[in-house]
Amino acid sequence: MSEANVVDGVVVLLHYTLKNDEGKVLDSSEGGDPLPYLHGASNIVPGLENALKGRSMGDKLDVTVSPEEGYGNRDPERVVQVPRDSFPAEATVEVGEQFVMDSGQGHPIPVWVTDVVDDEVTLDANHPLAGQALNFSIEIAGIRPATSEETTHGHPHGLTGDEAHH
Ligand code: ZN
Repeated sequence: MSEANVVDGVVVLLHYTLKNDEGKVLDSSEGGDPLPYLHGASNIVPGLENALKGRSMGDKLDVTVSPEEGYGNRDPERVVQVPRDSFPAEATVEVGEQFVMDSGQGHPIPVWVTDVVDDEVTLDANHPLAGQALNFSIEIAGIRPATSEETTHGHPHGLTGDEAHH
């Protein structure tokens, strides 16, 4: 076994539990596979990526990430109202549904439906976790070199690097 540390360009496998400030579990890898990410490629929020730098296989840590280092603060200007008929007739337009809007400059923007009143739909481009502190409990379950394809793409291809590309 080599001394594996978290440095730019390695794929790190994380077991994690994410809680909000009220202690509610928002997301967890418990009972499933660890989450792979490519270190140094902004695959995960900056506050967590920074906290993992230099860590070793098997390390366990608790990390609290501020909104600034997480999904950002909520920007009220990123909320828009659109008519229901701007969606395809067959689309399910309900609170919590996610859609992708075209910014007009070719960048797709993920948006979430936060309200539906009569024929008016409220879309919020803020991430649902914007404005929240993120409390992570982390265990480093694996560290491996990235494949050249992963390095080129800037993201991991599954746990072992040979997962069929999506
Ligand atoms: Zn890829």
